[in-house]
Amino acid sequence: MDRIMAIAHILGYPRIGEKRELKFTLESFWKNESSELVLHQTGCELRKTNWQKQQDAGLEFISAGDFSYYDHVLDHSVLFSATPTRFGFKGKALTQQDYFALARGNADQPAQEMTKWFDTNYHYLVPEFGPETEFLINAHEFLSQIDEAIATGAKVKPNLLGPVSFLYLGKSRAADFDRLSLLPALCAEYAVLLNELTYRGIEWVQIDEPALGLDLDQQWLDAYKDAYARIRNNRPKLLLTTYFESVARYAPNITALPVDGIHIDLVRAPEQLGVWLAVLPSHWVLSAGVIDGRNIWRNDLENTLETLIPVEKKLADRLWIAPSCSLVHVPVTLTHEQNLDAEIKPWLAFSDEKLQELNVLQQALTHGKESVKESLAASSNAILSRRLSTRVHDKKVSERLSKINTISPERTSSFVQRSTLQKQRLNLPLLPTTTIGSFPQTTDIRASRSAFRRSEISASDYQAIIQKNIRNAIEQQLQLDIDVLVHGEAERNDMVEYFGEQLAGYTFSQNGWVQSYGSRCVKPPIIYGDVYRPAAMTVEEARYAQSLTTRPVKGMLTGPVTMLQWSFVRDDQPRDQTALQLALAIRDEVDDLQKAGIAIIQIDEPALREGLPLQAGKWADYLAWAVRAFKLSASVADDSTQIHTHMCYAEFNDILPSIANMDADVITIETSRSAMELLDGFGEFKYPNEIGPGVYDIHSPRVPSVEAMEKLMERALQVIPADRLWVNPDCGLKTRGWPETIEALKNMVQTAKNLRLKL
Ligand code: GLN
Ligand code: ZN
Repeated sequence: MDRIMAIAHILGYPRIGEKRELKFTLESFWKNESSELVLHQTGCELRKTNWQKQQDAGLEFISAGDFSYYDHVLDHSVLFSATPTRFGFKGKALTQQDYFALARGNADQPAQEMTKWFDTNYHYLVPEFGPETEFLINAHEFLSQIDEAIATGAKVKPNLLGPVSFLYLGKSRAADFDRLSLLPALCAEYAVLLNELTYRGIEWVQIDEPALGLDLDQQWLDAYKDAYARIRNNRPKLLLTTYFESVARYAPNITALPVDGIHIDLVRAPEQLGVWLAVLPSHWVLSAGVIDGRNIWRNDLENTLETLIPVEKKLADRLWIAPSCSLVHVPVTLTHEQNLDAEIKPWLAFSDEKLQELNVLQQALTHGKESVKESLAASSNAILSRRLSTRVHDKKVSERLSKINTISPERTSSFVQRSTLQKQRLNLPLLPTTTIGSFPQTTDIRASRSAFRRSEISASDYQAIIQKNIRNAIEQQLQLDIDVLVHGEAERNDMVEYFGEQLAGYTFSQNGWVQSYGSRCVKPPIIYGDVYRPAAMTVEEARYAQSLTTRPVKGMLTGPVTMLQWSFVRDDQPRDQTALQLALAIRDEVDDLQKAGIAIIQIDEPALREGLPLQAGKWADYLAWAVRAFKLSASVADDSTQIHTHMCYAEFNDILPSIANMDADVITIETSRSAMELLDGFGEFKYPNEIGPGVYDIHSPRVPSVEAMEKLMERALQVIPADRLWVNPDCGLKTRGWPETIEALKNMVQTAKNLRLKL
């Protein structure tokens, strides 16, 4: 006899399409090469396909309102007419152009600020609130997508960002403005929208409150009570949705809310299940997020069922099952992967495959395991094949790792002693000039690389082209009179993929794209096994570049934390173990570079800060292993080898002790957009080593003036002594063109020369 029907659902589906259809339509629309109609047709088709997939997988609901032409938080601002007043869109029906102006800026206004969605690589457009903010429901687009979903005949669960998280994720330009003062007015509009959904026959609404995963103070916690009391009448049932962290510590606050259920992330925080089972109000549903929405590994379905079956016994039809979070954080489908290793492919599950997994779980819970015997066996086989694979486990790596405590993460001597030796060896002027690593990736370079990949040109032809670019980069830098040169990274498609391709333990998908923001997608490499370095990765280019000049040319590496952070990582061992393996691989490269006579080696760690856990209580542990990994990669350097690191987009003040503890001889950071304010923290902290605060923003083609850069450096000199300061741009120059790069660097070198005369 069938048991109660288990309810399966998802929290959101990728909107970019199997082959990035949305990206290509958006970009052609922006270039005026295709019409608004085509854009909307593409959107409509993508939604239809996504819903069909969900129906085919037997989900109880299809997810609606999760689609967006750019970003769902932007859509949410539009939904409540809460777009920044500076655009002057108030009271106006927004055109498609207006919408994109908010996201990308227009002739008069810069775009809304963009920032990372929690600890993901998805970027949302930060809502701007102020005393002038007024909310007015503007639901035409939202409701038309809901109606479109209803028209499929399926049961529809609309997706809404909750009022408290919406305010929390926004920011205010006005000083001292309390965003929570907007809550009553905002909730009044939510109430109108929810009434409208009731009227449409919607039974459940998914209301996302991911801010509950963060450290909230009392004021914000109280806001939940206030907000949900204001929207309690004449509305569909609400599934309060949380993800990325445990929300168990707020259980007393949450269970007091007038909602009808909660979704919890049991992949990131499985330990919270017990708490929720104990306190779940008797009329609530519990949506168990058991399939990883942040990673690409196939689920161990037998294992998951072991967790779910007792829960189902207790909750019966009040148990729902789902991925841990929206699937926008994973690629769409494995269907088009032709080149993935045959052994590895069955270990993976992208969004479409995760829908199938949900389906199997749902069948097993409803009709018993027997009914899906074959699917469960296939899952177990894949799990077993992965667990036992000789491709995953490498004895040499585990042996080396077991002895890792014998490798000191510290350099031989203190910074002061190293600095003396390095100054003798390098003989640099005061305020040395340098760049961050990459020079323009011209269409020529890219075309040659694709030709090489398609075997249209030979390896030696390709190498000759790379050498020509290195030669050109060195010549340009010598002509500019830069003190510490770089080879320009012409051979690198991407700072992680380039190394991943040369390391054991990495594999790559063809179509595993994930939306980063708007039309921008990334394809993170996949770390599936023990990582080690079979052969030197950068030595040849470094040696060649150094052979062209007597000035030092920096060796250029990506650090272990960034390699980890920007890949899909193993879930069969803790992240810190993978970081240590990466650290040893990079360490080997540092060693080889210095043996090849390279005197300065830069180990980039732009992703160090974004790896910080969402809850501050977990920071210390993360920082300890992340910093150790970096140091292990660097500590093989002789005292006279100068280690640089680089970080961008970062707020540093709260992690300065850790950055200092990394003990890089030189750190280059992005500062120009904050007019060097960022440096104050370094000054107050008495940061001991050398710093290169970026003197110009490489994100724009604008050529900065000598005066502007001098002013910035003078500000820097007030905080950091001249003998510990470098002069460099904010970040690498790969997205720039050569002419503007030369002009900007000319001015940068002049800045350093002017200042040297004044000192
Ligand atoms: N060395 C890299 C470059 O110059 C650093 C890029 C980064 O920090 N994101 O491109
Ligand atoms: Zn950078």
